[in-house]
Amino acid sequence: MKYDYDLFVIGAGSGGVRAARMSSGFGARVAIAEERYLGGTCVNVGCVPKKLFVYGSHFSEDFDDARSYGWDVSANGVDWETLRDNKTTEILRLNGVYRNLLEGAGVEIYADRASFLDEHTLQLGQRRITADKVLVATGSWPHIPKFEGSHLAISSNEMFYLPQLPERIVIVGGGYIAVEFAGIMSGLGVETTLIYRGSLFLRGFDLGIREFVREELEQKGINFIFDETVEKIEEAGKTRMLTLGSGRTLQVDSVMYATGRRPLTQTLGLENTDVSLNEKGAIEIDDSFRTTSQNIFALGDVVDRVQLTPVAIAEGMAFSYTTFGSQTRDVDYSSIPTCVFCQPNIGTVGPTEEEARARYSDLQVFETSFRPMKHTLTGRNEKSYMKLLVDGASDRVVAAHMVGPDAGEIIQGIAVAITAKASKSDFDRTIAIHPTSAEEFVTMRERAR
Ligand code: NDP
Repeated sequence: MKYDYDLFVIGAGSGGVRAARMSSGFGARVAIAEERYLGGTCVNVGCVPKKLFVYGSHFSEDFDDARSYGWDVSANGVDWETLRDNKTTEILRLNGVYRNLLEGAGVEIYADRASFLDEHTLQLGQRRITADKVLVATGSWPHIPKFEGSHLAISSNEMFYLPQLPERIVIVGGGYIAVEFAGIMSGLGVETTLIYRGSLFLRGFDLGIREFVREELEQKGINFIFDETVEKIEEAGKTRMLTLGSGRTLQVDSVMYATGRRPLTQTLGLENTDVSLNEKGAIEIDDSFRTTSQNIFALGDVVDRVQLTPVAIAEGMAFSYTTFGSQTRDVDYSSIPTCVFCQPNIGTVGPTEEEARARYSDLQVFETSFRPMKHTLTGRNEKSYMKLLVDGASDRVVAAHMVGPDAGEIIQGIAVAITAKASKSDFDRTIAIHPTSAEEFVTMRERAR
């Protein structure tokens, strides 16, 4: 045979693992290289440990609420080391699951960094390996901008292994990671301040959602400083002194930056290939994930599309079907449901109201906010919010947005209906499940706008 492998995958994260397993299933001889941890960002320093921390941090409210239901409980604070280490044990278990999945699929695993010597040859430690096709799925890495004292800031990667919980933390950024970690830290009892450079966080999400979430999180005691930048960070004993653009200073124990993630391409030896990067440093690809080099492909966070695990998985499957299966498959990027695991969650699918208004001339907006039944006893002033956007011309539901407990779980189901092009009258004739919060999605009759 001309090459050692039909496919060599670089990076055993969500996209790479799926592509390797499926391609092997289609009969290709496949190997995968992973220099860090099997499962990539999602399993090790992303979705999975984050969600475990979200669960862990919510207990502070649960203990409070339990008293209104007659339970004699008192919480004496969280033992961070137990939460952190139990989380790590679970991640190690998942690393093993990923190993078994790959080996079970007949994929050879190299625990090494791979870099290109030419289009078909890779250096792995002392070895040289050749492959007909190479798939780059190296993912992304947190980006902290450079400024005076920026080395004193940590990223989400370090948050998962903190030696101890800080008493006060500043989180910089206004995207998914900043908002999720603000909720986690605050829930665990850390005095939390989020600093964002714009006037309202979660740019790109529906405005109604963003405003609602701001109020909810503020009520829970998270401090927001909007329209503000960090000029420098200084060490002050064990604490950190921040000087902000306005001249204001803040003293905290820890500073976390969540200011986006950049594609990981630096050590790949791409200069030895014809692969091109775009202005953001992401690998350029065409519709079939082919780079500007004929036999090299890329997907997931390392390309400039959508940085979400299920998207990388969908891309991995589409790549495998198209390249080694006998059919061409595409990824539908049009209505990607997503959840921000702040507390309460944001669940969303379809365009924002502002985008939909520009797209549909007769946009109908249905909207409701209410206190979930659980809190009628607890008295907790936490509210939920739901919004349906309907194209009046076709009666199709084009988007659903929600803030509330388990919004991600609820919106996943609604996303099926939207993918299947359900109409508002389909929603209306669906019988409610009572009493739930989700039933509001099939009982909203009065147009808000
Ligand atoms: P995002 O791109 O979502 O947000 C980055 C934030 O940082 C934005 O608010 C941005 O501001 C701000 N920012 C960027 N550069 C600077 C700077 N130089 N100074 C100050 N602020 C800056 O990135 P995240 O790091 O939050 O997450 C990365 C990606 O990971 C997400 O986009 C998402 O796709 C994925 N993710 C998904 C999760 C989920 O599905 N639940 C959870 C976590 C991550 P501005 O808005 O002004 O540009």
